[in-house]
Amino acid sequence: MAQSPQEKPSTIHNGGFVDEREQALFASYAMFSRQSRGRKHPQQVHPYRGPFQRDRDRVIHSSAFRRLSGKMQVFTGDFGDYHRTRLTHTHEVSCIARTLGRCLRLNEDLIEALALFHDIGHPPFGHAGEDALNEVLKDYGGFSHNKFALTIAEDLEQRYAEFPGLNLTYELLEGQQTRAEKAALFAATGGQGPLLEVQVVEAADSMTYDAHDCDDAIKLGLVTLEELQETTLVREAVAAARIRFASCSDDHVRKAVVHHLLERQVSDVLSYSGPRLEEFRGRTSEEVRRQDFRVGVGPELGELKRELERFLYARVYRHPQLIAMRSQAQARLQRAFQGYLQRPELLPPHHFRRIERVGLPRAAGDYLAGMTDRFFESVFESQFSVT
Ligand code: MG
Repeated sequence: MAQSPQEKPSTIHNGGFVDEREQALFASYAMFSRQSRGRKHPQQVHPYRGPFQRDRDRVIHSSAFRRLSGKMQVFTGDFGDYHRTRLTHTHEVSCIARTLGRCLRLNEDLIEALALFHDIGHPPFGHAGEDALNEVLKDYGGFSHNKFALTIAEDLEQRYAEFPGLNLTYELLEGQQTRAEKAALFAATGGQGPLLEVQVVEAADSMTYDAHDCDDAIKLGLVTLEELQETTLVREAVAAARIRFASCSDDHVRKAVVHHLLERQVSDVLSYSGPRLEEFRGRTSEEVRRQDFRVGVGPELGELKRELERFLYARVYRHPQLIAMRSQAQARLQRAFQGYLQRPELLPPHHFRRIERVGLPRAAGDYLAGMTDRFFESVFESQFSVT
């Protein structure tokens, strides 16, 4: 990361109404806007938007954010148009995370910005694309979508004439950095953990994909609701739906199941983590992140989520239709990458200067990583397909 904690005094907080509002609504351990360490390139305080609202707006108005609509979550366009894309997943994470943040009296603006930003570094074809790029870039530092989000935010997005990147707050970049170093997020290590707002987004991400991947997989016919009931969580959700809606169509049951899965997980985080957080009343954000505490579901639901995730992994993510898509996408990405190494002149001209700074392999990999699924297909067809 370009910025160190010591480097930056807080120069960006809006001393007026943003502070008053936060003082009235937030718990002591929330990340207050006035505590922000600021941005790499200092900017004037905005008259009515706090620093994290500005982060959110910069993310929403970025090119990389708009491209999320063309990037697959688990399923591609070949499967139809019902399922989630990276963009709709991102919005689901954002609204669940904000619900949690509001109930836990944390900084909702920071949570929203973090959530909208969290998957912005995904390459085309989801984790299949990520694995392919990681493989071809293994001698040059590899590829991770979480790290690539930082490259987008600090280097690739062109918003200001004076400097590259989106000039996001230290807190947003640091939050993403902890996602890139996964271990720190999941384990209470005794050292400094991520901000509570970052922990909330992580919890919301996991509960969102567990729920919507069930929905998408059934709707696309990869598994049946019957089969998903091998897992305790879905079995319970179906039972609850049948009690609530005695006679209803399978379609309604499927939707009620998704609703139940989300409600169950959100309620569990609030009833398990809420009272523990309350014990830190009066402490600051910095003090609480040094505790062995992580926002999340309780151990019982944690076990049931792992059971559901094992099912989804074996029966959905490893489904033959997805495996076939995966290998085709990977082969094509790798061929395109090699193609650019052999013929760098095929890259768009504005990438040439970046080659001098980061080398051809990284510039070519990052160019591919920024593409939507469909844009990649059209580039591949026009530049690399042998017909
Ligand atoms: Mg996500």
